[in-house]
Amino acid sequence: MSILVFLEHHGDELQKSSLAVLSKAAGLGAGEVAGVVVGSGIEGLAGQAGTYGAATVYVVEDARLEAPLPQPRVDAIAQLVADKGFETVLFAQSILSADIASGLAARLEAGLNWQLTDLATGDGGFVGKQSALGDSVIVDVGWRSTPRIGLFRAGAFDPVEHAAAGTLERLDVQLQEHSLAAEMVEQAHAEESGPSIEDANVIVAGGRGLGEPERFALVEELAKALGGAVAATRAVVDAGWYPYSAQVGQTGKSVSPALYVACGISGAIQHKVGMQSSKTIVAINKDSNAPIFEFADFGVVGDLHQILPKLTAALQARKS
Ligand SMILES: Cc1cc2nc3c(=O)[nH]c(=O)nc-3n(C[C@H](O)[C@H](O)[C@H](O)COP(=O)(O)OP(=O)(O)OC[C@H]3O[C@@H](n4cnc5c(N)ncnc54)[C@H](O)[C@@H]3O)c2cc1C
Repeated sequence: MSILVFLEHHGDELQKSSLAVLSKAAGLGAGEVAGVVVGSGIEGLAGQAGTYGAATVYVVEDARLEAPLPQPRVDAIAQLVADKGFETVLFAQSILSADIASGLAARLEAGLNWQLTDLATGDGGFVGKQSALGDSVIVDVGWRSTPRIGLFRAGAFDPVEHAAAGTLERLDVQLQEHSLAAEMVEQAHAEESGPSIEDANVIVAGGRGLGEPERFALVEELAKALGGAVAATRAVVDAGWYPYSAQVGQTGKSVSPALYVACGISGAIQHKVGMQSSKTIVAINKDSNAPIFEFADFGVVGDLHQILPKLTAALQARKS
């Protein structure tokens, strides 16, 4: 059961979540696992990927692949699947990967399961875990034919480094004319300081209980004192208090830091599904009946406007 994992990169860094999917695939012990890196100026990246469990890392290097556009990548991966006979192709969730996975499913007439949270061998192939009904239940999903295509939720696994490094194989692919018709006109990155919420070990999240956007400063100061990142609920993102890139939950990102501090967050199911796999959850809320206390490991009932500055000051004092 050979598996190919698409390894997405941003600049000169491979995405942690795709290395995590690669590690997961290698850990299944279900046949040969390979990775593929597609882009321009990427050979150095491919070397990094080899230590996360890929027996072979395919490198599709072409100046026309510099922009992160999906269709040329569909061409490259479809050709690799046809040439090498991969039976399973796995992706870590991102906007680009979702576009490639769906384009690949259409091109290969293959089945695609998305929002997967786990994968195991079974039924002569693979069985995936997928959340359903607003994340209130987890269901088993499978594929009726090969190639099987799977898209995993960000944060579903952690990357694991292996001692042995895989071999690199450079591939030339035919890019179709229609796939090159789209052009990247402009690419801009949101200004960010500190770790991103996907990679952070500590997250301090703010909700509507902050009362007004300026009060996010309290959350930012606590995050800084803890060396963590700032996240937000959809309520405050929709209100324009914080950028969407920080939203955690069903329609935002899934995160699993060691510590998640929820400040003025009620704990709605749609928020819970994005952060419930955090190792330790601390909730600060003035309402002792807030749903977040049902799944928090530690709870503080009180006014965050008084608690957060004191907590930040105590951490700073301890550091100095
Ligand atoms: C289809 C769908 C998708 C959604 N996707 C998401 C998603 O991805 N992420 C997400 O977060 N939500 C999502 N939601 C919205 C979700 O249902 C909730 O509305 C949202 O999470 C609530 O945000 P909140 O906790 O900030 O606000 P509220 O629910 O208003 O909670 C505010 C909390 O702050 C507390 N509080 C108030 N003042 C203070 C104070 N001074 N000190 C301490 N505590 C205080 C209150 O007691 C309350 O518990 C989605 C909803 C739908 C229908």
